Amino acid sequence: GAVPGSSNLKQVKLERESELRIEVSDEDLKLRVVNGTAEIFGSELPPGIWRKFPPRLKFAVFTWYGATIEMDGVTETDYTADETPMVSYVNVHAILDARRRFAKASTSTDSEPVQGPRVIVVGPTDSGKSTLTKMLLSWAAKQGWKPTFVDLDVGQGSITIPGAIAATPIEMPLDPVEGFPLDMALVYYFGHSAPITSVNNNTINNVELYKVLVKELAQVLETQVAGNPESRAAGMVINTMGWIDGVGYELLLHAIDTFKASVVLVLGQEKLFSMLKDVLRTKSNVDVVKLHKSGGVVARSGAVRKASRASRIKEYFYGPSNELSPYANTVSFSDVQVFRIGGGPRAPTSALPIGSDPVSNPLRVTPVNIDQGLLHSILGVSYAEEPDQIISSNVSGFVHVTEVDMHRNKITYLAPSPGALPSKFLVAGSLSLVDEGRR
Ligand code: ATP
Repeated sequence: GAVPGSSNLKQVKLERESELRIEVSDEDLKLRVVNGTAEIFGSELPPGIWRKFPPRLKFAVFTWYGATIEMDGVTETDYTADETPMVSYVNVHAILDARRRFAKASTSTDSEPVQGPRVIVVGPTDSGKSTLTKMLLSWAAKQGWKPTFVDLDVGQGSITIPGAIAATPIEMPLDPVEGFPLDMALVYYFGHSAPITSVNNNTINNVELYKVLVKELAQVLETQVAGNPESRAAGMVINTMGWIDGVGYELLLHAIDTFKASVVLVLGQEKLFSMLKDVLRTKSNVDVVKLHKSGGVVARSGAVRKASRASRIKEYFYGPSNELSPYANTVSFSDVQVFRIGGGPRAPTSALPIGSDPVSNPLRVTPVNIDQGLLHSILGVSYAEEPDQIISSNVSGFVHVTEVDMHRNKITYLAPSPGALPSKFLVAGSLSLVDEGRR
C-alpha cells in the first residue's frame, strides 16, 4: 500500500514503438498522457486526462511516435518494453483495411458483393488472442468501420459472461476499462466454462452443443450481414478458446469452416500454424498467418482463470467498477421453467436398465426441478417461446439464483435490470457463483 502522505506520482518517457506494461495492484491506479500520443490495446488515450484503472487490471500503454506517461498510485509491476510485435499486428490491420475497402467498393459495382475479411484469431491460452482481437477491432473502428466481434471463448469470454458465445458490432474504439458494449450483443448460453468439463469428478461432454450454438450464431450473423452492406464490408474478428489439441483443434476447424473465415491468425505456436496451414492449403480463399506472441501477455494459472471467471460474472451484475446494483426479484416456482441441455454427467452403463442406451442425447432439453441444487446457479433467460426452441434461441441476459425457498415455493434471483423477465424459460448449465455480495 501507499505510504500515507507520500506522493506516488511517477513519470515515464516512452520512446517510439515501445510500451509501458502495467499490472495494477489491489488499489486503483490513475494514469494520463502528458506528452505525445499513446494507446491501450488499439484505443487512443485522450491527451492530458486522468483515467482510473481498477485493481488487478493488466495492460500496456503503447506509443507509435513517443509519449510521456504519468501514473498516480502504486502498481504491482510496471516496466517499459521496446520489443513488441505491434508493427506486425498493425501490418495485418493494414491488409484487412485494404480488403474492407475492396469489399465496400464491390457493393456498388458487382452483382455478387465481396465479403469483407473474416478474421479468426487462434492460439494456445495466454498467447494474447483477446488482446490482438481488441486491437484489430479498435483500429478498424477508428477508421470508421463497424466490424462484428465474435467471441467463441466460453472460458474467458469478454462480451457477456463466461459460458456464453456472443457477437456484437463494434462502432467505436474499445474503452480499456469498460470493455465491450452489450446493448446490441447477440448472445447464446452454453452454460459451461469448457466444451468438456468435470463436475464432482463426472465428465460432462458438451462438444455437440458447443458446435450447434456456434452454428446458430453464425447463421444469424450471416443473415444480418447479408442485409447490411456496411457490416458485410467491415467483416468479422473472431476470438477463440485456447484449447488447441485434440477435440479443441477440431472445434477450431469447425469454427473456421462455420464462419467461412478468410484470414486465420495463429498466435504463438509454430505447430498449430503448420497444422492449419496444411489442412487449409487446398482452400485458396483462406490465408493462414503466423504472428508472434507479445512478451507482455501475462500467463494465468487455472486458479487465476477460475477467479477471473467469477469476477467477470460479478462484473455483469455489478458493473466493471462495482458501480451498479443488480435487482433482486422473488417469484413463485410456477412463474419460471428451468431447463438443462444435454445429458449432464453420464451414468455408468452398469447403473442403467438393461437394453437402454448409455449415450444420452447431447442435445436433449430436459426440465429441471427447482430445488436447492439451483442455488447460486447462473441461468440464461431464453428468448424461446417453446421449450423445443431453446437450443436455437439466443438469451436476453442472465440471472443469478440467490435463494430457493422450498417451503413457500419461491425462488429469488438477481438480474442486471428491473422488472419482469422477458421470458419464463431459463437455461441452467454448470456455472454458478457463490456471491459474497459486493466486491
Ligand atoms: P485466453 O486464451 O486465456 O483467453 P488470451 O490468449 O486471449 O488468453 P489475453 O487475454 O489477450 O490472452 O492476455 C492475457 C493477459 O495479458 C490479459 O490480462 C491482457 O490484458 C494481458 N496483456 C496482453 N498483452 C499485454 C501487454 N503487451 N502488456 C501487458 N499486459 C498484456
